[in-house]
Amino acid sequence: MSVSIYPGSFDPITYGHLDIVERAARVFDRVIVAVLRNPRKAALFDEADRVEIIRRAIEEELPPEVARRVSIVRFDGLTVEAARQHGAEFVVRGLRAMSDFETELQMAHFNRKLAPGIDTVFFMTALEHAYLSSSLVKEIARFGGDVGGMVPAAVAERLRSVAAEWSGDPAVG
Ligand code: ADP
Repeated sequence: MSVSIYPGSFDPITYGHLDIVERAARVFDRVIVAVLRNPRKAALFDEADRVEIIRRAIEEELPPEVARRVSIVRFDGLTVEAARQHGAEFVVRGLRAMSDFETELQMAHFNRKLAPGIDTVFFMTALEHAYLSSSLVKEIARFGGDVGGMVPAAVAERLRSVAAEWSGDPAVG
């Protein structure tokens, strides 16, 4: 059985990420979406929220035969350790542009050095998602813009309530 792990911050998950999850689930028997707890990055949603949002997005927006192959975990530390822990031989990452490629290539080399048995597999972004990033989505939501078509419904809902809190808070507003 081929098992892959797709690590990321997913703060929050976008349609760019979800598309990679779906395509990876058509290549590998199992895809483990691994939500990174990164103390160096201030997150909008905590890990428990991010996991819950991803769970809903997968359940609501992926075909059941695809969703069945996907699970979600949280992790901190090294990706290759999380991969070993969950029996994954492949790390899945997405590429949008040359700027992604440089850091992703370095990370892939680094991970192979640490764990030669674990290989990184890259999926090219779908053309319609090439511009999407979690930070862009947060920025748009921050200013009350419409994030429909960029993120799953579960995310759009949460962003709307966060935006409402922001706009009601004079210290932030
Ligand atoms: P990280 O902090 O690890 O980069 P992200 O959640 O930002 O976590 O991204 C996780 C992975 O998904 C990365 O490989 C990133 O390049 C990829 N990714 C992010 N957005 C997109 C997108 N729109 N299309 C394809 N891949 C994407």
